[in-house]
Amino acid sequence: MKHFPIFLAVEGRRIVLAGGGDAALSKLRLLLKTEARLTVFAADPAPEIVDWAADGRLTLLRRKMEPGDTLCAKMFYAASEDAEEDARTAAIAHADGALVNIVDNLEDSAFITPAIVDRDPVTVAIGTEGAAPVLARSIKRDLEERLPPALGTLARIGKTFRKAADALPFGRARRDFWSDYYGGAGAAALSRGGEAAVRPALSNLLAAHLSTSPREGHVHFVGAGPGDPELLTLKARNALHEADVVIHDRLISPEILELARREAILVEAGKEGFGPSMPQERINELIVEHAQNGAQVVRLKSGDPTVFGRLDEEIEAMDSAGIGYTIVPGITAASAAVAGIGQSFTRRGRNGSVRFLTGHDMKGFAEQDWAQLARPGEVAAIYMGKRAARFIQGRLMMHGADPATPVTIVENAGRPDARVLATTISQLEPALSEAGLTGPAILMLGLAPRAAENAAKTIDIPVQEAAL
Ligand code: SAH
Repeated sequence: MKHFPIFLAVEGRRIVLAGGGDAALSKLRLLLKTEARLTVFAADPAPEIVDWAADGRLTLLRRKMEPGDTLCAKMFYAASEDAEEDARTAAIAHADGALVNIVDNLEDSAFITPAIVDRDPVTVAIGTEGAAPVLARSIKRDLEERLPPALGTLARIGKTFRKAADALPFGRARRDFWSDYYGGAGAAALSRGGEAAVRPALSNLLAAHLSTSPREGHVHFVGAGPGDPELLTLKARNALHEADVVIHDRLISPEILELARREAILVEAGKEGFGPSMPQERINELIVEHAQNGAQVVRLKSGDPTVFGRLDEEIEAMDSAGIGYTIVPGITAASAAVAGIGQSFTRRGRNGSVRFLTGHDMKGFAEQDWAQLARPGEVAAIYMGKRAARFIQGRLMMHGADPATPVTIVENAGRPDARVLATTISQLEPALSEAGLTGPAILMLGLAPRAAENAAKTIDIPVQEAAL
């Protein structure tokens, strides 16, 4: 984004325009919609401008603009349609501290004027940074058709009712009230009895909303999958769409957070790998607090929430606070990793079980059933295993594992920047350290990427350290 859209407060402020021809007219038509004080400098103004001045809608000075003419101006339009004259007036306005726009000169302008859909106080501004004005106009046309003309009236009356609506608790209850109003009740009142009928309708609607018992808060523990938004379940998408609050781990990709409802409060809780940076008790409290306020909370966890996600601790907190919850499973990192190397976790005749292990637990490197894991044909996905790799390698060798047993490390599994490092138990370190992986990674014991495995079969060499 090279231009950031904002809505500038111009009520009672001074806006100056230099020019009196077509370019000036088209900008003035927009500016006259505002409550700003307009001053136009034009030696030879179009008749419309003269009329507007006569009606007191702007101040017209029939001369060239000179230094000192833009004092205290908030915005300035150079619209003389003469590049040299525009540069001259723009320099004056710039020196006076006004935001300057030179018509048809994107490069030298401090701001651009968007295409505007006006349902005052609802205003839609469409900009393409000068890239596609035709597209902006066609979007404007679509929106003009879509947004009923009464929208402005409804919003204006609605605004006068905001204080009264504060009687409803903040959050979902208030939002439901307003969406009922804009979603039908307001328009129905307007068409039934005109503007006079809208306020009474708002009062009735408010009474109805105040008398219904508040919606209970609810928590969805949602698996966000490994990072690709296409690997989200539909249930996860819907929960995000409905959420008032999303409390998420740092591993969650921005593309997925984008899917949360615009107004949802996003809270980051926790860092990658070794335990959350926000203490678990604080996360539990946060979830409880929001749910007790009636919010639909999504507790978004990477992969599957039931796999190394401290789900139990959070569920216990919900149980003791009496808060309802749902678990929405997700695709765990190991599933994405194994798919990424074209393999299957289980295989008839090779292994009838697969383990998900952590390389790290609360006490440090995690002890496992190494004797079992060292056997031929064993398959395991090791989470949080990067730092523990040398320890894991040592334990497996100590328990007699074949040093040539494949180990494949998949970094950023299921994401566009995924990397695969294929190695063996004996080479695991230093291969892993040398690869310098910085993203989250899964170590897969007993599996080589299918492509490398096939290549090894045909040319009959052991699979080694091939960074794919
Ligand atoms: N609940 C998550 C796991 C959380 S523990 C899940 O089901 O996937 C965090 C560990 O998961 C990381 O240290 C890493 O080992 C693994 N991990 C998470 N996302 C990953 C990804 N996209 N690629 C590889 N490993 C990942």
